[in-house]
Amino acid sequence: MRIVMFGPPGSGKGTYASRLTSLLGIPHISTGDMVREEIRAQTEIGKIIKDYSDKGKLVPDEIIVNLLMRRLNEPDAKRGFILDGFPRTMRQAETLEETSGVDLAINLNVPDDVIIQRLSNRLVCKRCGAIYNKLTLKPKIDEICDICGGELYQRDDDKPEVIQERLNVYRRSTEPLIEYYRKKGLLRDISCNNLMTPPEEIVEKIMSVIQEEFG
Ligand code: ADP
Ligand code: ZN
Repeated sequence: MRIVMFGPPGSGKGTYASRLTSLLGIPHISTGDMVREEIRAQTEIGKIIKDYSDKGKLVPDEIIVNLLMRRLNEPDAKRGFILDGFPRTMRQAETLEETSGVDLAINLNVPDDVIIQRLSNRLVCKRCGAIYNKLTLKPKIDEICDICGGELYQRDDDKPEVIQERLNVYRRSTEPLIEYYRKKGLLRDISCNNLMTPPEEIVEKIMSVIQEEFG
């Protein structure tokens, strides 16, 4: 089961993918998390990509493709995966096609006002990457992760100026890929128009699409 998730920044891809992973028993692979981990660990790659990420720009294809291929070669990804944040360019989509292929693409449709509300209130766990929201998905204890007890923080790219740039990049570079997968007959649309819709409800919708496809 090889699934890719599309949706603008703040559409909930990461939140839903991390829940689907435990339901489906295949890994959730987020290139955004991988990018943040390289930056946090101050690796050679991390030093090169920090500036792109901070500004809301895409990291060069070659770097991100290398990171992803390394991850897809690990044993747990052999049975399938849920990709979150990849592919984001035509070149990335073609590389994925050549190396492993895709069975299903989920497209999350979310209006801009919901996205901006989500991103400006989003908090992320420093230790495990779990995602919270000051309005809709509060941790049990302020600023502390429910799962691992780690500290919650606001991502550098969740600042208003950068949010707008990420939305522009999404429209320009990533939206055309939706048509690419639609033409292949692999795309399924899921809408979420309301900020307060609980994640469980969307996860349920995605699960029923998956059941239709894979039986
Ligand atoms: P978002 O919440 O905007 O969907 P992600 O967490 O997926 O963000 O990614 C954060 C940043 O990491 C991006 O703005 C970009 O700089 C970099 N990045 C992640 N995935 C990719 C990719 N597939 N190609 C290029 N850059 C990427
Ligand atoms: Zn945590």
